[in-house]
Amino acid sequence: MKTKVNMCPTCGGKMDYDPASGVLKCQYCNNTKEIEVGETEIIENPFNDALAEGARSWSDDDIKVVTCKNCGAELIFESHTKAQFCNYCGSSHVSEHAPEKTIPPGYLIPFSIDEKSAFERFKTWIGKRWFAPNALKTAHRNDRILGTYIPFWTFDTQTFNRYTAERGDYYYVTKTRTVNGKTETYQERHTRWMPVSGHYNRFFDDVLISASNKVDQKTLDKIDDFNLDALITYKPDFLSGFFAERYSVSLEDGWIIGKQVIDNHLKAEVRREIGGDEVRFLRIESHYDDLMYKHILCPVWISSYKFNGKTYNFMINGQTGKVEGDFPKSGVKIGLAILAGVIIIGVMYLLISNGNF
Ligand SMILES: [Zn+2]
Ligand SMILES: [Zn+2]
Repeated sequence: MKTKVNMCPTCGGKMDYDPASGVLKCQYCNNTKEIEVGETEIIENPFNDALAEGARSWSDDDIKVVTCKNCGAELIFESHTKAQFCNYCGSSHVSEHAPEKTIPPGYLIPFSIDEKSAFERFKTWIGKRWFAPNALKTAHRNDRILGTYIPFWTFDTQTFNRYTAERGDYYYVTKTRTVNGKTETYQERHTRWMPVSGHYNRFFDDVLISASNKVDQKTLDKIDDFNLDALITYKPDFLSGFFAERYSVSLEDGWIIGKQVIDNHLKAEVRREIGGDEVRFLRIESHYDDLMYKHILCPVWISSYKFNGKTYNFMINGQTGKVEGDFPKSGVKIGLAILAGVIIIGVMYLLISNGNF
């Protein structure tokens, strides 16, 4: 049965999720309707069960799935949305089909930044780019700004780690040398190396890994400061007026990336634990126990603008408003900045050599 939840009871118009008020709002008569979510209880799922169970299905009735033949993205829309073009690449080579059996999202962070304030934040951001050409600061975006729920995996695990390494501590030896016929003393640095080993246990909570390989990862990494306390139970209603991407990084591949992120943390933390001035030959043997995951959707505004015939992409965190993206670097401004740096160094040099410091 198709849900009628997103039809306006007053005028029959389509109701979209409104980030400013957090409710469904009719596009025609401004009538509003609450989305019933109830208490959200966050449940972590055992990773091994997911692999054993195989995939389940999203609630098919409330969504439509559109695949882009051009860029390969699979986009999920609330079932009443018309989808004629790919939101990512603009191609019209899209086809609607029944949702495949995949792990549905358990939770999402709703948009709290609306389109208007997202664009305001973009304008402020581009205005502050020191190297962005002046003309750009007044330029307008050409493309639509798209409210996208990007899929993420979160991982929890208790790690048990055994490490071996060599810890280096500096010590200094006083030596003498002759310079221009004068004898002077100086300190020579040496390192004393000591074998060390030990255990380091650490619990990791909600390691956030992008489950999309369709969006620019470098930009996404810079704006993914999501506050996961805001997670609520996934409901297709939140997709009204927005869309979601179906994950293109599998749970298994997500965990491979998650493990790398965890290992990098462990390396840095174990080095700190060992102490000393240097650490070498560090080896860590890790066990990842009680591995749990969640599949969640996070809100991101994605858009681009054109400048001098070139397209630059940017993203805005739909929860925190953080902006990041590409921008043209102006040759004149970079030249001026380098020149200013050279002048400062020159003045410093003159002051020092005149004994003013
Ligand atoms: Zn209405
Ligand atoms: Zn596409």
